[in-house]
Amino acid sequence: MIIRYLIIITITISACNAQKSSSILTSKDAVSTKTNTLAIPLDSVDYSVDYIMGKFDPSTHPEFMIIPPKYRDEDIRYIRKDVMREFIKMYDAAAKDGVQLIIKSATRNFDNQKRIWENKWTGKTILEDGTNAAKDIPDNLTRAKKILEYSSMPSTSRHHWGTDLDFNSFNNKWFETGEGLKLYQWMQSHAYIFGFCQTYTQMGSDRNTGYFEEKWHWTYMPVSEGITRQARLKIKNDMIQGFLGAETAVAIDVVQNYILGISPKCISKQN
Ligand SMILES: [Zn+2]
Repeated sequence: MIIRYLIIITITISACNAQKSSSILTSKDAVSTKTNTLAIPLDSVDYSVDYIMGKFDPSTHPEFMIIPPKYRDEDIRYIRKDVMREFIKMYDAAAKDGVQLIIKSATRNFDNQKRIWENKWTGKTILEDGTNAAKDIPDNLTRAKKILEYSSMPSTSRHHWGTDLDFNSFNNKWFETGEGLKLYQWMQSHAYIFGFCQTYTQMGSDRNTGYFEEKWHWTYMPVSEGITRQARLKIKNDMIQGFLGAETAVAIDVVQNYILGISPKCISKQN
């Protein structure tokens, strides 16, 4: 753990030394230097409440771009340009080691997340364990908590930010054998070099609140940790509105328990 924090500090320091080399590191080079060319000074940007809550259109936002088809599945997806630059370095390093990363989800704005959430809320989408939330869980608070095992309330998802990516499979089991295990082990030992961090680690390992484990969900920390800190300061539970079941956000304390329910490895400054 101490080593991990030292590495994070190293990455943070290198972020302050922006504008350095932009050469593409091989994974071998990257491992030996244990640093990266992160170009985003922390907290140099003031993120608006609307941005943090996903209330914008990534297709017209100047900081966003379409992910080139090579890196994703068939669906058009958007990502922050600065995140894409670093992701390509990680993608290339992984490919050299025989690991192919495929982006299965990236930016989802409020409207996208509202659709996902309400489809689960109304039973149109059956939950991961076969539960029909509408039929099987009449109590709203219980229903919201159940959906929150894997899905964010609209306006609280890290996918709003363009910094968080889902890779290859939405099934933790896929990452436990064969190709999936190889990919996960590669990410565990290399992703931090490129600034990426697994946000939703196993519950009880280094966090006790938030979504269930997601081996597929990784965040580009040099940008997202600043947004996380600003979310903590700017987003209040009673601002979370505009979708079915939103009234449960205050009782659940979604800000503390979900927005901030991430692995501490994914944020180096706690204040
Ligand atoms: Zn995700």
